Amino acid sequence: MTNIRKSTLQHVKKVIIKIGSAVLTGEDGLDLQIIEQLVDEIAELTKQGYQIVVVTSGAIASGKHRMGISGPLKSMPQKQAAAAIGQGRLMRVYSNAFGKHGIYTAQILLTMSDLTDRKRFLNIRNTLSTLTEWGVIAVINENDTVAVDEIKFGDNDHLAAMIANITEAHLLINLTSTEGLYDKNPALSKNAKVISLVTEITEEIEEAATADTTSVGMGGMKSKVIAARKVTAFGIPYIIAPGKEKGILHAVIAGKDKGTLFLPMSEHLTSRKCWIAFTLRSRGKLIIDEGARTAICEHGKSLLPSGIIGVEGNFDVGDPVTCVDQNGLSLAKGLANYGSQEIQKIMGLKSSKIEQVLGHKDYDEVIHRDNMAVEK
Ligand code: GLU
Repeated sequence: MTNIRKSTLQHVKKVIIKIGSAVLTGEDGLDLQIIEQLVDEIAELTKQGYQIVVVTSGAIASGKHRMGISGPLKSMPQKQAAAAIGQGRLMRVYSNAFGKHGIYTAQILLTMSDLTDRKRFLNIRNTLSTLTEWGVIAVINENDTVAVDEIKFGDNDHLAAMIANITEAHLLINLTSTEGLYDKNPALSKNAKVISLVTEITEEIEEAATADTTSVGMGGMKSKVIAARKVTAFGIPYIIAPGKEKGILHAVIAGKDKGTLFLPMSEHLTSRKCWIAFTLRSRGKLIIDEGARTAICEHGKSLLPSGIIGVEGNFDVGDPVTCVDQNGLSLAKGLANYGSQEIQKIMGLKSSKIEQVLGHKDYDEVIHRDNMAVEK
């Protein structure tokens, strides 16, 4: 086991470390001792040549504590206000802790809509790589003050997964308040064991992840496993590990048998296709016939108008759409070369007829292969 870990992690240099609220907060708000312990380790790893980006929670928990609120926050505006209060303090704590090692930090606050725009996505990548070049640690959180519903990541597990994609990281370590992913719910079963290695995210693995959250965190184990699916699809190994344990980062990076390692998928998607598959929200559906399904899913082909038998939703050129089979099973997601109204007119036809029907033809394909991520 340890050998698989060692060989998987041997060339790791760029590491995303996600630190959950349940790790960072104690009864008195932020747990400064744990933060210092983790920062000491990160500083040491940085000095050894690792390039580290931190994704941190803890703003809401810290703000709540500052306001003397003990129960759960009732409304979204209350959570947003608490985050606005807590984020500054969270950053100051990180900045002081890294400062002791002569390392500067940079605050980055993001929403989902920052990532769905390809230009902004690339801008974030450039900023992060410059910070890394300068030896500055980026400390990233969701911009809770502005993020609601459509533009919200939902939890920092998802945000960290997206950052792993943006930076093309070699490893994502998700530090939590548990030992890792258990085979059964440890709260209900005494003989629950930590699963050390996950080679494939099967239904059993998904069932093992309970949605129960701690009182301070947001995602729970379920969202950590959903994030694992994304990260491993990017070709990046993913480890869920106990964040309060002293020396945990060194142990994990050295390939010690700690927490749960999810192996990367051998056939992974390119960064751009991951962006299409996991970042963009679909604006409509194209129902495709069996011939098109085989062409796309088995032969790596583009989607032509001839294979489309139905269009749902109102979308424009360039919008992300989902390709589904006749039973509604989702097969692929991609960027449409034609809007929904145009596709209504050309579906079922040969590409050579596009110009005759629409009066123009910019592309033969409705979705080009390069802009499509296949799921099945
Ligand atoms: N962004 C939230 C915070 O900093 C936490 C989200 C999460 O725990 O996933 O408080």
